[in-house]
Amino acid sequence: MKLSSRVRSLKGSATLAVTARAAALRAEGRDVIGFGAGEPDFDTPDFVKQVASEALAAGLTKYAPTPGTPDLREAIAARMRTRNGIDCRAEHVVVAVGAKHAAFEVMQCLVERGDEVVVVTPAWLSYRPMVELAGGTVVECPAGIDVGFKVTPERLRAAMTDRTTAVILNSPGNPTGVAYSRAEVEALAAVIADHPTATLVSDEIYEDLVYPEVDPAVEAFSPGSMPALAGRTVTLNGLSKSMAMTGWRVGWAVAPGDDGAVAKAMTRLQSQMTSGIPTFIMPAAAAAVRAQHETSPAMREVFAGRARLVAELLGGIDRFRTVAPSGAFYAFPEVGACFGLASPGGRVIDSSAAFAEAVLEEAEVAVVSGEDFGEVARNHIRISFACSDAQIRTGIGRIAEWVASLR
Ligand code: PMP
Ligand code: GLU
Repeated sequence: MKLSSRVRSLKGSATLAVTARAAALRAEGRDVIGFGAGEPDFDTPDFVKQVASEALAAGLTKYAPTPGTPDLREAIAARMRTRNGIDCRAEHVVVAVGAKHAAFEVMQCLVERGDEVVVVTPAWLSYRPMVELAGGTVVECPAGIDVGFKVTPERLRAAMTDRTTAVILNSPGNPTGVAYSRAEVEALAAVIADHPTATLVSDEIYEDLVYPEVDPAVEAFSPGSMPALAGRTVTLNGLSKSMAMTGWRVGWAVAPGDDGAVAKAMTRLQSQMTSGIPTFIMPAAAAAVRAQHETSPAMREVFAGRARLVAELLGGIDRFRTVAPSGAFYAFPEVGACFGLASPGGRVIDSSAAFAEAVLEEAEVAVVSGEDFGEVARNHIRISFACSDAQIRTGIGRIAEWVASLR
């Protein structure tokens, strides 16, 4: 069969691949510590499961409105108004199969062939394929470890041209684990506001996971609340991370600008695509959204402790350079000092992919190699610390010992 050129060169998600590989090794009986998946280890709160079960029992098994039920869209809009300060209504919200699908649809709705989308890197590895599948070109705006993974307004301005259609910002960020301060986001937003047409796509999926304990300046702040950008911002969010609901596949975009033009376009697209998320999930998602402000702080507390532990343990590895995570659940150490060395198992470590492969095979720790997160991320590995303190200690202990044995 002949495959389209669109998919022939398409790479699958490396984060999902590492997660699957670690699970397969565990199924073979290997004692693998998984730092691969960007997936909270907590279980979904019981009350959310309860609402979904009741909805199933009550027969909510037929088609529902494509962009989500009015109740779910209103629950999300109310949260975005009160928590995020975004002036929006239910009709500006489109619920999709995870924030991943929402982001994919946003790119389909905004990007024309030849358009440029500025992505601050290191960045989540799915943005590039999403932009490219929409026919656009990714312009990487590098913010590497030397600048603490934070882009400056000057660098952002330099990356934007008259072909820039959109800029993707993601704070707290995957894979860097870095959150910006409100002032920093405002300064970046001002650059975008200065551009005549660019849309800001603000991926705020980790907004509940910010650690002022690590850096007192950091804060979850939505640029879509700024009057200068309110009409030109699409905000992405979902329940995967903050409510430990990755497998439920609930995410959304909020786009109040131009009388909800992007939300309407997304709804048309989605009506030809998935028709929307499962009907009996919708009331459970609404319950989760309404309880988020009460439920997720406890998880945040635990992640903040893990962030400090990870920073301390990685700080003890001389061959690594690490920025202490101030948000999300990732650390993104630079491992270039290991390149050119040989492992006890006889592997030559010449890239972060080789590092990740060897550390999985020889130390039984799954990490994601930096390559797919952007050019500036090549010499890094991503450690997702969405697991217990004991697993963190064991896993980083194994990495440290293995790294020390490289010659
Ligand atoms: N954005 C970022 C930055 C992410 O790390 C993820 C993780 N998968 C997503 C969006 C999408 O999450 P989901 O599709 O599970 O809502
Ligand atoms: N976003 C998470 C990660 O980066 C989940 C996997 C994915 O969707 O890419 O690990």
